[in-house]
Amino acid sequence: MEYTTQMDAARKGIFTPEMAKVAEKEHLEPKKLMALMAEGKVIIPCNKVHTCIEPNGLGSMLKTKINVNLGTSRDLTDLNMELEKVNHAVEMGAEAIMDLSSFGDTQKFRRKLTHECPAMIGTVPIYDAVVYYHKALGKITAREWIDIVRMHAEDGVDFMTIHCGINKETAKKFKRNRRLMNIVSRGGSIIFAWMEMTGEENPFFQYFDEILDICREYDVTLSLGDACRPGCLQDATDASQIEELITLGELTKRAWEKDVQIMIEGPGHMPLNQIAANMEIQKTLCHGAPFYVLGPIVTDIAPGYDHITSAIGGTVAAMNGASFLCYVTPAEHLRLPDVDDVKEGIIAARIAAHAADIAKGVPHAMDWDNEMAVARKKLDWNAMFDLAIDPEKARRYRESSRPEKEDTCSMCGNFCAVKNMNRILDGEIVSIFDE
Ligand code: SF4
Repeated sequence: MEYTTQMDAARKGIFTPEMAKVAEKEHLEPKKLMALMAEGKVIIPCNKVHTCIEPNGLGSMLKTKINVNLGTSRDLTDLNMELEKVNHAVEMGAEAIMDLSSFGDTQKFRRKLTHECPAMIGTVPIYDAVVYYHKALGKITAREWIDIVRMHAEDGVDFMTIHCGINKETAKKFKRNRRLMNIVSRGGSIIFAWMEMTGEENPFFQYFDEILDICREYDVTLSLGDACRPGCLQDATDASQIEELITLGELTKRAWEKDVQIMIEGPGHMPLNQIAANMEIQKTLCHGAPFYVLGPIVTDIAPGYDHITSAIGGTVAAMNGASFLCYVTPAEHLRLPDVDDVKEGIIAARIAAHAADIAKGVPHAMDWDNEMAVARKKLDWNAMFDLAIDPEKARRYRESSRPEKEDTCSMCGNFCAVKNMNRILDGEIVSIFDE
C-alpha cells in the first residue's frame, strides 16, 4: 500500500475508497475533505483489519456522529445481550460502538465486533489490561499496558481511548487543587492509582511514541482520553481539566508528525453557560482536532434522566464545534443499561446531533425536518411515522389514543389547526362545532 493511515494518504494526495464514501455521504468535495484530513481536522477511523466497516468521518464541516458504549461488567456478563444491544444500536443509527467490556472473555467479544459489525469500533485498552492479566493493578508492568494496545490494534479496533494526558505533573496539580468529585473517569482513576502505587510515570504518556508506531501500522485513531473530565458541575473547567487539555494538545502535534489520526475527549459534567467557551479552548489548545464529548451533562440532579441532561449539553457542544457525541442512557450513574435504556440513549443523542447540525449549517441537515413538516401539513400519518426518528414509538402513541376523525389526532380533534387551515385556505367552510 502506498500509504499508512488515512491521514498519510490525504497528505500524499491519495483519495482512498474510505474517503470516497465519506465525501459522498457528507456532500463534500474530495479536495476539501483531503485538505481537512491532512490538517487533522477530519478523521476516518478505520483499522486496516476491520474490513467490514462502513467508513464514517468525524470533524469539521461533517455531520455530528454518535457513539454507543456497551460491554460486559462483573455484574452482567451476558455476551448475547450485549450483542443484541450492538445490533439495535447499529439499526438505530449509531456510527460507533465502544466496547467497554471489563469482565470475561473480552477478546472473543471484541473480535466478533470487528469481524461482523459495520460501525466504528472503539475500546479502552486500560480496562482490558486488568481483566487480561488477571492480577492486581499494582503488579501490571508498563510493558504490559503497552502490549494490550498492540493486541487491540491487531484485533481490528478502529479507535482507542488512551489516558495519556494525566502524567505526573497533572497528578501533582490535581492533588494541589482538590475537587468535589475527584477523578470520575474509569481509566483515569486506574492510571492515577497505578502511578500512585508504583511511583512510575504514566506508561501511556512515557511510551507515547511506541503507541503511535502501533497506531500508524494498523491505522488506529487515538482518542486522547480525558482522565480529568469534571464529574460534577462544581469541578468543571478547573486546573486539572485544563492542565490535561494542554498536554493533549502537545501529544496531538506529536501524533500528527507520525500521520496518526487523533480526536480529543471532553467533559463530562458542566454548566450550560461554560460549554461554548470549553469548545473554543479545546479547539485552540488541540489545534482543531475533532472533539468527542461525553455529555456534557448540564445538571447533576437527574439520575434516571441523564439521556436528557446530556442531550441538552451535547447539542450545545456540537453546535459549538464538537464532532462526536457519546450517548448517555437513563441508566447513567445507576446501572448497566438494558436494551430499552440503550434505545432511549441513542434517540436522545441522535436528536442532539441533528439539532446541532441544523444550527451549525451542515448542508442538507434540515431536509429531513422539511419533509416532516410537509407530511404534517398533509396530515399524512404514515409518512410522519416513516420520517420519525423513532417510528415505532410514534405509531404506538397514535394507536394508543385513536381520534374520532382520522384526519386529526386526539390532542385537538375538531379544533385541529392544521386541518382547519388547510380547509379554509381551500375555500371550505369551517364550523368545528357541529362537524
Ligand atoms: S389535532 Fe392538534 S395536535 Fe393533532 S395534528 Fe391537528 S393540530 Fe396537531
